Amino acid sequence: MPATEPPSIGAWLAALPKVELHVHLEGSMSVATVASLIERHQLDASRVWPDGLPERFSFDGFPDFARQFFFGLSLLRTGEDLATITADLAATLAGQNVRYAEITTTAYTHFLAKEDRAGMAPSEYRAGLNEGRRRAAAAGVDIGWVIDIPRDIEMPDSSVTIDYLESDLTPDGLVAIGLGGYEVGFPAAPYADQFARARAIGLHSVPHAGETEGAASVRSAVEDLGAERVGHGVRCLEDAALVARLVEQGIMLEVCPTSNDLLQVIETIGDHPLPQLRDAGLRVCLNTDDPGWFATDLNTELMVATEHLGVGLGDHLAIQRDAVAASFASDSVKRQLTDALAAVVVPG
Ligand SMILES: [Zn+2]
Repeated sequence: MPATEPPSIGAWLAALPKVELHVHLEGSMSVATVASLIERHQLDASRVWPDGLPERFSFDGFPDFARQFFFGLSLLRTGEDLATITADLAATLAGQNVRYAEITTTAYTHFLAKEDRAGMAPSEYRAGLNEGRRRAAAAGVDIGWVIDIPRDIEMPDSSVTIDYLESDLTPDGLVAIGLGGYEVGFPAAPYADQFARARAIGLHSVPHAGETEGAASVRSAVEDLGAERVGHGVRCLEDAALVARLVEQGIMLEVCPTSNDLLQVIETIGDHPLPQLRDAGLRVCLNTDDPGWFATDLNTELMVATEHLGVGLGDHLAIQRDAVAASFASDSVKRQLTDALAAVVVPG
């Protein structure tokens, strides 16, 4: 029998069973999905894209990103829209052999009344997410939901998100509360009460911190919000005592290299601090953040980590095992993933 060729690195990474723990539903829409929603609601997108929809999204700095992102958000008008984008995301995840995903969605932005329409009713939001999750399961992807507070939109004196999380209208598979939005000028500590209430009803705590703000923001996420994982967290390296604490408590950082590059958290992809984070003994997992807007997917992020950030194939296998352990998946999903990863052979 002829010796079989070892798979290429790309093929091996693509075939690796994976989980993704940091991906935003509202940031996942591809150009094709955006086009279909514009068509569905008969909307005019020319003020955002005067030359028509681009082949892939691109932007010049955060304000330009936000302008396009919020237009995308305005396309989500019904529960069926949410089911559609969840199913579209699940199809791309399934295509990358991602079998479990914790997907963040921002309930507040859907409930809010906008200039040309009323906000979505919580019952419709729930129905849309449940239907999307059902379609995802049929495609082979289990979903755990994270519902986040958008710190730059929902002020700490509001209780819309936390009241909703305490209601009986939350989606099936809800596992955690997050804190998203723009960090600078919007510290975490004022949200401590909301997070305490969420934790009291059994939700896990996964705030963003240390992306556009420094180590103090990560420390606050841990001390004030009880963070069990931190979204991004890359700037924790500015404080050695904090790094030691994150290592000791086993708090995983959800690292999103392309997002950090495109939102100019780092200068170039080669400057990403993933190698230093790993050298410091921190737990990390790899993620896409907003795969539609950033025109990336998890396979691409893994390849970037291999080509630019010194992550070998054996490291990738270990990172996936650790991400499964740090996920809030059910025991049976964790067992299936652990078994699948145990069967993976790292080429020599
Ligand atoms: Zn994020």
